Order: sequence, then C-alpha cells, then structure tokens
Amino acid sequence: TVAVALFTQDLRLHDNPVLHAARHAADQVVPLFVLDPDVAAVGFAAPNRQAFLAACLADLDASLRRIGSRLVLRHGDPAEQAARIAAEADADTVHVAAGVSAFARRRETRLRRLLGRRLHVHEAVLTVVPPGRVTPAGRDHYAVFTPYHRAWQQAPRRSPHGAPRRLDTPDGIGSAELPAARPHSPGLPPGGESAARQQWRRWDVDGYADLHDALAADGTSRLSPYLHFGCLSAGELAARARAHGGDGAEAFVRQLAWRDFHHQLLAARPEAAHRDYRPRDGGWHRDEREADAWREGRTGYPIVDAGMRQLEHEGWMHNRARLLTASFLTKTLHHDWRVGAAHFLRLLVDGDLANNQLNWQWVAGTGTDTRPNRVLNPLRQADRYDPDGAYVRRWVPELAHLPGPSIHRPWLLAPDYPAPLVAPEDLALRLRTARALD
Ligand code: FAD
Repeated sequence: TVAVALFTQDLRLHDNPVLHAARHAADQVVPLFVLDPDVAAVGFAAPNRQAFLAACLADLDASLRRIGSRLVLRHGDPAEQAARIAAEADADTVHVAAGVSAFARRRETRLRRLLGRRLHVHEAVLTVVPPGRVTPAGRDHYAVFTPYHRAWQQAPRRSPHGAPRRLDTPDGIGSAELPAARPHSPGLPPGGESAARQQWRRWDVDGYADLHDALAADGTSRLSPYLHFGCLSAGELAARARAHGGDGAEAFVRQLAWRDFHHQLLAARPEAAHRDYRPRDGGWHRDEREADAWREGRTGYPIVDAGMRQLEHEGWMHNRARLLTASFLTKTLHHDWRVGAAHFLRLLVDGDLANNQLNWQWVAGTGTDTRPNRVLNPLRQADRYDPDGAYVRRWVPELAHLPGPSIHRPWLLAPDYPAPLVAPEDLALRLRTARALD
C-alpha cells in the first residue's frame, strides 16, 4: 500500500504527525511538496521566504535520502497535484496538516473535493495546541491572552515522536528540480530542519528570562523562521523546554502560547488578516514621504531606524524593535497598520499571517490588546532596552561615534542625521494626549 504525505508548513522529519501517520498507514510513502503559484500571485512569496523555503526543501530532500526516500516536488495547485500523484502511485490515503489561514482552508476544501475519503487532515502540526481545542464558554475563540494561556497550559498534549529511521518510496514518480532563489537580505539565516535543530541546541534558554527584551544582547531563540516553515515542531519545543525547566524555559513556552493564541484567533476569524478585529474610530493618516522614511530607517529616531535596518539586512527583527517600530508607525505617525504589516511581510523571513497581522493589530489597538491606547515612547524604549546604545551602534553606523546613550538623541550632536519626523517636544505632547503608558 502507498500513502502520500503532503508537506505544507511542516518541513521536518522529527515529530511530524503527517509523515508519522502516512508511514503507519502504508508500506510506502510519497513525500510531496507542491510549489503553488497562487502563493506568489497573492504576494506572499517574498524573496527572503522563497530563498529560505528553497533551503528548507533541499535539507528535507537530503534528510529523506538518508533514510532511503526522497522529496517529490511539483509545481501547481496542491490539491490537483496531490490527486494526480495519488493516482500515479495508486495511493490509498493522502495526509496533510490542518492550516489556519483562509488560503490554507481553501486548499483543504479543494483537497476534500478532489480526494474525498482518502484525505486525512491532521491537527496540532502547526501549533502546540490546535486552534479550537480550548475555547471560552459559548465562543469559538479566545480574544484575551491571559485566560487563553491559563486554559492552554491545562490542555492535553500529544507526545512528540522522533524522526523515521527508514522510509520506502515507490520508484518512477517524477519530481521537478529543487528551486533556487535569491534572498533580498544578505544576512538571512540558513533554512531547514538541520539548521533549526542546531540553533535550538546552540541557544541558551536559561538566559531568556533576563535577556529577551535587551536589544543588543540578542538573547532570543531566533527560531521564528523555523517555526513558521515547520522545520521545528512547536509541540516538541514546548515539551523540551518544559523538561529543561527554569524561568527561561517557562518564559519561552509562554511565547509559544502567544503564537498559538494568534493562530487560534486567525483560524476562527480569517478575515482578521486584513480587517480590524476591533473596529476603531477615525481614519488613518496618509503620507508616503513619512511611510518611506519609516521603511528605510530614516525617521530621525535611531532606535526606530535601527530596527528597520535590521529588518532590511537580516529579514528578521528583534521582538522589542518590532513593537516599537510598529508603535511609532501606528500610534505616533497614525498610519494604517496594514501599511506596516505589508512592509514587514515583504521582508520578514518568519513573515506569518497569524503572527504578523495580529501582532500589528495588537500594537495598533485594533486587535487583542486590553489596553488599546497604549503608546510606546521611542526615547523611553531606547533608554530602557538599549541603555548604552549598542543596538543602535550596530545598525546605524553613521552615529557610532556618539558616546553611550547620547546616540538616541542625534538632533543634539549629529546635525547631518535626518531630522526627527516628529519633533521631540511634539512627541511628548502627542504621547500625553494619547495617554502614553509605557
Ligand atoms: P523568541 O522570543 O525566542 O520566542 C520563541 C517563539 O515564540 C518565536 O520564535 C515565535 O514563534 C513565538 N513568539 C514570540 N513572540 C511572539 C509574539 N508576540 N506573537 C506570536 N508568536 C511569538 N512573529 C512571527 O513569527 N512572524 C511574524 O510575522 C511576526 N510579526 C510580528 C510583527 C509585529 C509588529 C510584532 C510586534 C511581532 C511580530 N512577531 C512575529 C512576533 C515576534 O516578534 C517574533 O516571533 C519574534 O521576534 C521572533 O524571534 P525569536 O524566534 O527569537 O523569538
């Protein structure tokens, strides 16, 4: 018997319920990945993620070959291609992971239509706890993180399983060439499950509780792109961190719960990827010159500019910098969160509809923040999270000569640096009127 394992956002051999089920359902498995031109058509196939994906697929193919199999790659509509391969290989079942976006839901509907009862959709492949597994009484999703987190901690977990030691794949199934893609950002991390597991082993989880907000320390896991493409299982990571124990591991697991929180919300409200989750009064300010200065890291606030330049260079940005750059755009300049979210999605290697759009909404006050009027003061954020200016010095080298924290106020010492888009004295006023809390 033959089964098809259709890979989507689960590009790994370890703890992969789709692969695991396919292997137990049949003697032979066709590991299939379909490059869908519609992903490019909706603008989601940004060069950084394309390049990262290409590396993930090459690594998956290499790992499969080591256990006697190989990756079958096709171009086209995933549902049609899966049906075609199932027919070619005379497969009894096709296995795939459940998705949360409107796009993934459409793919699933088409798969059901074309494959009928042969299709097996697996939950909890993408997240630790599947969307919809924990819900508040009478509602289909949680809108507030704290009660979600409480319920999430109590939710039953499946135990992670290891990678298969051997996988037999039928001969004679043609595969397209693995794609080659050039990233936009020169500092992109290496893609694939092997790199992901190496990064997890290398990273110091114990330091996380103290260092996760320190911009220059760079003490976060940097696992987000691997989690986005499923090179690592969120369930396995949570189990490993729990087994490790300590404050750092606990804080890390909490972040995985945030990821699940956004996924359960998007699964219940796919339209929240584009529409305000909580409608807000009033319009947004539009000014292309300001938006360009923000995108290019020329706002005149070095802490904001440093974040934007890290994004450009690495295709990744520290969470604290994401928060303060997003707050600057939406709460200080009053630009529509969709403008910022689109720019992030063009560059982020971990760019993810659930995490990106819903974090943007959280910052903009249209999402799930219980204090939607909160505004981050870029200068206070700089003083608190980059006290010596080391993060700014790394990303804004033209200011590197300014000593210590004076780097955060270049209008006093570096007249050639772009003038602040909002004058510091107006900033204080804008923050007061917006009831700044942080
Ligand atoms: P760690 O601090 O090591 O956290 C571990 C993991 O937990 C992360 O890899 C991530 O999967 C998850 N996580 C951490 N923080 C969050 C959070 N606030 N929301 C959801 N999951 C979280 N994350 C993305 O994965 N993709 C995005 O497109 C994305 N866009 C964002 C946009 C904005 C405006 C903001 C404020 C945050 C965004 N985040 C996004 C969340 C967060 O910034 C990143 O997940 C984190 O910076 C990734 O770095 P890390 O892997 O070192 O995180």
